[in-house]
Amino acid sequence: AEEMIVKSEKLSVIGQLAAGVAHEIRNPLTSLRGFTQLLQKDLGSRYPYLEIMLSELDRINQIVNEFMTLAKPHLVHFETVGLKGIIGSVITLLETQAILNNVTILSRCGDSVPLVRCDSNQLKQVFVNVIKNAIEAMPGGGQVDIDISVRPNGDPLISIQDYGLGIPEDVVRRLGEPFFTTKAHGTGLGLMICHRIIEAHQGTMGISSESGYGTTVEISLPAADDDRNPR
Ligand code: ADP
Ligand code: MG
Repeated sequence: AEEMIVKSEKLSVIGQLAAGVAHEIRNPLTSLRGFTQLLQKDLGSRYPYLEIMLSELDRINQIVNEFMTLAKPHLVHFETVGLKGIIGSVITLLETQAILNNVTILSRCGDSVPLVRCDSNQLKQVFVNVIKNAIEAMPGGGQVDIDISVRPNGDPLISIQDYGLGIPEDVVRRLGEPFFTTKAHGTGLGLMICHRIIEAHQGTMGISSESGYGTTVEISLPAADDDRNPR
């Protein structure tokens, strides 16, 4: 665990800088939004672009918030936990969004999946990002399959599969690039944050996709060196 913390601290140098800047941006942004909202209340009918200003301010806010999470590896709190519980709470978190999008989330957990040593909040953030992407890839609704299993080497493997738009080859190459998004309201930061967090956990993350058929994201994490784990 010591080692992991050292590594994630190294990773967070950029994050710390970003968080500092982001923090400074947030305060004036809040007052800017407040006054714009007042203006809109008084003059909104005459100046409809105040509505656009508000939604653009919200977008800046969203980007700044996502950027700030880059610094979080600094506040790591490692514990030994089961992935089933983590996935379960993420599904609960995303249930409303799934229902609104006509998406069913199904999850299966294999037998004797080892526990992992992780910062649960960070891992949750990874699964939220990936499952959100899966939901957003199926605008007409559909199903997300989550499978928790054990790799031949004994490490747990989480696979998240959707049957949506898929990712064209030229896009696959750019995944994880900061601000790369194909969505009108995307930030293009989700996958980069996921990669960083998984890296800080000494895990791996792979994406395979077929345009038009869907996408599978596979995340593997090292089994915890814990007495409660099967050997
Ligand atoms: P955002 O979701 O804000 O666009 P991400 O980093 O999460 O940012 O994703 C970057 C891009 O990768 C998306 O805009 C999309 O083009 C593509 N992508 C990611 N996950 C999927 C998926 N499950 N299906 C199709 N495309 C995906
Ligand atoms: Mg995303």
